[in-house]
Amino acid sequence: MERLWTGSRINKNKKMVEHLQSSGVIRSKKVAEVMETIDRALFVPEDASPYMDSPMQIGYNATISAPHMHATCLELLENHLKPGMHSLDVGSGTGYLTACFAIMVGPEGHAVGVEHIPELVESSLQNVQKSAAAPLLKAGSLVLHTGDGRLGWPEHSPYDAIHVGAAAPEIPQALIDQLKPGGRLVIPVGNIFQDLQVVDKNPDGSVSIRSETSVRYVPLTSREAQLRG
Ligand code: SAH
Repeated sequence: MERLWTGSRINKNKKMVEHLQSSGVIRSKKVAEVMETIDRALFVPEDASPYMDSPMQIGYNATISAPHMHATCLELLENHLKPGMHSLDVGSGTGYLTACFAIMVGPEGHAVGVEHIPELVESSLQNVQKSAAAPLLKAGSLVLHTGDGRLGWPEHSPYDAIHVGAAAPEIPQALIDQLKPGGRLVIPVGNIFQDLQVVDKNPDGSVSIRSETSVRYVPLTSREAQLRG
């Protein structure tokens, strides 16, 4: 019974990925593979519809992003998530994207997540432990920290890829500083109207910034302001 049920769940996760492929959101084989490997159902609350293409409440005024947003960010960062590379996921929430990054950079790389709600860090660790990324957590190439992600996480910097899962009023300088030349930062910027910005650090240390698409994320803010709502 358990095996049958598990089988059909994995099948539904695969269907979600196939849908994102046929609608053109996922173009790369690597992104399809990692989203098939990390079952989204392990990262959403138990009563939720894990494969529906919409964001979902995870408590503490936070949400897990919609599958098409996860896919979009993975597509934008794919070339910066090669085996051995270093990635940082700011506002790691459920841990879903940190787990995807960890699979992509592999055991020789580093996938760091920073989240400022300790309860979410705790549950994200449990989520990852149930997932295909569990061995990477055990081995220490995937780590999830409690902290203010606006300061980045200097320990494994500079990063090839930085993702921010919450909208910043402006790009935090610490994140630009912790980006490797040749590296890429993907960050929603704005208040009510937000753009998903792609920041590339050039070999000379200067940055090029472009807007990819309009988005709607929860704010990158202080813990107190977030809990106040
Ligand atoms: N990518 C995550 C997104 C979670 S929502 C997912 O799909 O699960 C954004 C997250 O950013 C929330 O969990 C929120 O608590 C966190 N956050 C907001 N401001 C932050 C800050 N200054 N430092 C760290 N995390 C922050």
